[in-house]
This record gives sequence, C-alpha cells and structure tokens, in this order.
Amino acid sequence: MYTKGLKCRECGREYPKEPLYVCEYCFGPLEVNYDYSKIKKKLSKELIASREKNLWRYRELLPIDGEPIAGLQSGFTPLVKANNLAKELGVKELYIKDDSVCHPTLSFKDRVVSVAISKSKEFGFDTVACASTGNLANSVASQAAQAKMNCFVFIPADLELGKVVASLIYAPKVVAVEGNYDEVNRLCTEIANKYKWAFVNINIRPYYAEGSKTYIYEIVEQLGWRAPDNIVVPVAGGSLISKIWKGLKELKMLGFIDEPNDTKVATLELEHLRPSTKIYAAQAKGCSPVVTAIKENNEIIKPVKPKTIAKSLAIGNPADGYYAFKTVIESGGWAEDVTDEEIVEGIKLLARTEGIFTETAGGVTVAVTKKLIQQGRIKKDELTVISITGNGLKTQEAVSSKLDKIIKIKPNLNSFENEIKNIS
Ligand SMILES: *Cc1c(COP(=O)(O)O)cnc(C)c1O
Ligand SMILES: [Zn+2]
Repeated sequence: MYTKGLKCRECGREYPKEPLYVCEYCFGPLEVNYDYSKIKKKLSKELIASREKNLWRYRELLPIDGEPIAGLQSGFTPLVKANNLAKELGVKELYIKDDSVCHPTLSFKDRVVSVAISKSKEFGFDTVACASTGNLANSVASQAAQAKMNCFVFIPADLELGKVVASLIYAPKVVAVEGNYDEVNRLCTEIANKYKWAFVNINIRPYYAEGSKTYIYEIVEQLGWRAPDNIVVPVAGGSLISKIWKGLKELKMLGFIDEPNDTKVATLELEHLRPSTKIYAAQAKGCSPVVTAIKENNEIIKPVKPKTIAKSLAIGNPADGYYAFKTVIESGGWAEDVTDEEIVEGIKLLARTEGIFTETAGGVTVAVTKKLIQQGRIKKDELTVISITGNGLKTQEAVSSKLDKIIKIKPNLNSFENEIKNIS
C-alpha cells in the first residue's frame, strides 16, 4: 500500500483512509497522504513504460489499495504535435493534450471518475453520485453502469442537450436542478451528509482529484520524460490545475523529469519542490473568479454569477479556487479570460488547423493561449502544451449557427457544377 491516509492541506492533521473530505479542526480540505519513500523504491520509468497504456500505469501514485475496477481503458490520450496551429500562432513547439477522445465518455473527467469509482467500491458503497456541469455526470453515469452501481447525477437544468443525452443513455437517475452549478453543489453537499452515497466530487473528492495527475504524467512521459515550459489549463473548480502542479512535483521528486541543469532531488516534501513548468489558468470572461484573483494578486476568490457558453467551466464559487490561484503564482505563470466570441473562434481555429473538434472549454484554452502568445508571456521558442479536455460533439449549439452554410444540390452533376461555380 502506497498511501498512509488523508492529511489536511492547511493544518497537516492526519486522518484515516475514509470517505472524508474536510478537516474537523480547521475546515481545510483533506488530501491523500502518500508514502513517497516506498513509491521511490518501487516505481521507475522503465516499470511504467512496461505497463498497459491507460492511466493505471502510474498506479502507485493513485490512491487505491486493491486492483482498479474502473477506467481500465481510460487515459493515455494522444499528445498531438500541433505544427499547423504553431505556425498560425507564431511559436516553435506547440502540443495538444487531447482528452476529447478519452475513453469512455470523451472528456478528462474519465480520469478522476476511474479513481473515484474504484475507491467507492473499495469503501463498500453501492451508490455513486455527483454534482456536475455535464462531463462529470456523463462519466459517472457511464462508469457506474459498467461497475454495476446505482447512480444519481445532479446537473443545472440549462445544460446542453448533448451532455444531457450523454448521461441519460446509461440510465442513471438524472436530476436537473433549477439553478446554477453552485446551487447544485450546495444541494448535493446537503444530500451527501444525509444519504450514504459516494459523491465523487464531494465526500470522495480527495481520492477523485488524484486522477487528474495522470494528465500531466502522460504529457511528461509522451515528451520523453521532459516537462513542458508552459501548460495552459482550463479552470472550473480548480482541481485539474492544482493537481497538474502536484503531479509535476511528484515527477521531479521521483527524478523522472530530465532537465539540462537539474540537480538530484533529495527531499520527499512536495512543498519544497519547484518544477520549471509555468502554469496558466484559462477561464471564460463570463465566469473568471480565479483569473480575476490572479490579475489582482488577491488570494481571496470572489464568487461570481456565471454567464458564458463555456458551461463546463461555469463554476462561480470554485472549491479549489485558492489552490488554483496558488499554483499559478508559485509556478510563475499567469491567467487570462476570453469572451464567448473568442471561445467560438478558438474552437474553429483548432478545428481548421489541427482537425480536432473540441467543446467550449477547449475553445477557452486555445483562445487564451493565443492571447498569452500575443502578450509575449508565452515565448516563441518555448515548448507549450494546450489542454483540450472535452469533445465538441457534446456542445454543438455553441458553434452550429456560426459555421459556413452547407451546399445543397439536386442529385445530378449539373446541379453540383452550378453550385460549385457560385462558390469559386
Ligand atoms: C471539469 C472540466 C474542467 C475543469 O475541471 P476542474 O473542476 O477545474 O478540475 C475542464 N474542462 C472540462 C471539459 C471539464 O469538464
Ligand atoms: Zn486542518
């Protein structure tokens, strides 16, 4: 076993391995506490490379004790060298980490849910649930079906049709709450206190969040055990971005990151480690509490009322907003937000240059990357990774009215050639 239990992120108090998530002394969030000296003895790059291409290849760095029962095909998504987009944006080395094709529900949430469902089964729960902006509900519903667990998913009532259908198809109980995500989440916290269910992003959150680390482990491994200079990350609740930073620290501690001037790392304390990667937070202007905090250099995140087409990122009161803020500041990165129009342009730009159709969250990261390059914050000769975390087929209403008209013809050659003449 490679985990010791849970630990408060604020006061350091330790807790047993249970479905707990908040410190009863200081109300700080709990985090998984690993036995890093044991992991360091066991894990090597070679061992990882010898394993199957899914997120469990890093299993010692994930918080389950037995065999994983979910996500056996999840993760290890493509790291695409985006030469066309790089040329368009005027940089040398640009990569897309493409979780729009993550198995089984086409978003990065399959990573966190694989860990959460496996852990919930270990804890003996028979019902899993979540508060979701869409993608999480899809993944929980799918993986609960496969794990033969009862399932409740709670979503805001105004979600995109694609995301509603992509939950309903697995026949969970889908509860549409007349309110925004923050209201859904508040309600779910009350339900979690009363019912003995595994809410993957509430009482299972410390375990769930660890799954995000595999996103950056894969990037580093796919770059030949090299950390990128920059990574642009979408922020909703702030979990992914803070776990990317934690994952980089772990890889550095294990000595897995090859850097030209790197010295051997002796410490097992993550707090003392400073990976060289700069982390950039990306949000929509209609919901940018973390970006605003970073720009104002104010660690107190002011909640907002979301109004944006990027519904997967529409969390006005992010649970890990403070840690997202800290991640960006510690890494020496920055933050930007973009308008709904720029989001649509970002989606279309990625599709036109790289043939990848991402959802609104991907439009946010592409548009923010463009902005950061124009500002000179991301330099032309650096290696940059853009996080693409969800699939465009789920949010078609965001772009459907903003595309070229289809060419409608009669089924004969004449009709075709007449129309073609009109175009060219
Ligand atoms: C959930 C989600 C995110 C960000 O998640 P965090 O809550 O910040 O960890 C990013 N992109 C997509 C598509 C998502 O569904
Ligand atoms: Zn505490």
